[in-house]
Amino acid sequence: MTMLALTVRPPVPGSAELVKVPEPDPADGTVLCETIAVGVDGTDNEIVEGQYGEPPAGKDRLILGHESLGRVLEAPSGSGYAPGDLVVGFVRRPDPVPCDNCAAGEWDMCRNGMYTERGIKGRDGFLSERFRIEPEFAVKADPALGRLAVLTEPTSVVAKAWEHAERVGRRARWEPRRALITGAGPLGLLGALLGVQRRLEVHVLDVVEEGLKPLLARDLGAVYHAGTLEEAGDMFDVVVECTGVGPLVFHAIEHLAANGVMVLTGISGAGRTRELAVDVLNKDLVLANKAVVGSVNANRRHYEQATEALAKADPGWLDRLVKRWVPLAAWAEALERREGDVKTVVEIGRI
Ligand SMILES: [Zn+2]
Repeated sequence: MTMLALTVRPPVPGSAELVKVPEPDPADGTVLCETIAVGVDGTDNEIVEGQYGEPPAGKDRLILGHESLGRVLEAPSGSGYAPGDLVVGFVRRPDPVPCDNCAAGEWDMCRNGMYTERGIKGRDGFLSERFRIEPEFAVKADPALGRLAVLTEPTSVVAKAWEHAERVGRRARWEPRRALITGAGPLGLLGALLGVQRRLEVHVLDVVEEGLKPLLARDLGAVYHAGTLEEAGDMFDVVVECTGVGPLVFHAIEHLAANGVMVLTGISGAGRTRELAVDVLNKDLVLANKAVVGSVNANRRHYEQATEALAKADPGWLDRLVKRWVPLAAWAEALERREGDVKTVVEIGRI
C-alpha cells in the first residue's frame, strides 16, 4: 500500500515532489486519519526554497505540511477518538531528554532545541493522503467548522502570543484597551480576531492599501492602517508583531503605552542592519515598564484556546480568510505567492 505525499529533500532548493510513499508508520501514532486539508505558510516556502527543514533521522526526504486537519479512520478504544472525528495534530514533539519545559508539556518553550516538528524538523508532516497521530498530540476539531478547522494551528500560534501578553501584563494591574497587530497576513488577521474577541480596540497595520486584507480587518471591527506606525497611532497596551521586519519591531517599542507588552511572532531572513539609539530605547523600556517577548509554536493549551476562538468566530469571515483551496495534484500552485493572497490551503479530502 502506498499513498501520495508532497516531499522535499532539505536543504536542496526546489526539491519538492509529489511522490508515492509507504502508508503512515504506526510509530507515528495509533490514530490513523485521512487528510482533509493542510494549510501552507512561509515556513513551508522556506523549506521548499532549501533555507530550512530537516528530514527524519535516516531518511533523505521529508513529508511537508504542519497545519493539519484529518478525519479519523481508525483509533484504538480508550484513545478518546472514534472513526469520523475531525482532528488537528500538533506540530512539535518534546525533546527526548526532556528539558524541564518539555517534561511539563510546554514543548513550545523547549530549552535545549532538541524538539522535533512535524513537516519541519526531523518528523514527517501531514501533506499526504493519510497520516497517523498520537492521541495525546492532537485536539478534536468542531465539526461545525468543517474544513475551516485547518486554521487551528495558525490560530494556536497567536493564541499563545495573546496568552503570554496577558501573563506578562498581569505582573501589575492590567486593563488593556488598545492593541496593535503588525502584519495582516493570516497570523495577523487571526491575531486581530483574538484581540476583538477580548473586546479590545484593535488596530491592524500592513503595507497594502486595498484588497482582502483591509476588508477582513475592518469586517472584524478592527481599524486598518496602510503605511507606517505613525499612522497606526501609539499608546498600545499590546502589540502582536507578525511581520518579522526588524526595523519595524524596534520602532514599535516607541508605540507601546506604559506597562505595554509586545509579543514577537515573526522572523525574517533578510539580514537588515540599522543604527539604533540603544540608550534611548533602554530608557524607554525601563521608565515605562515595557516588555518585549518572543513567542514561537504552541502547546496543547493554545490549541484548545484556538479551537474555542474559532468556534466563536464568524464562519463566513474565516471562509474569506482562505483565499485559495488547491487540490493536492496542483500543490505547486499552493506554494506560489500570489498578489492578494491571504491563506492558501491544500485540500486533500472532502468533508
Ligand atoms: Zn525540551
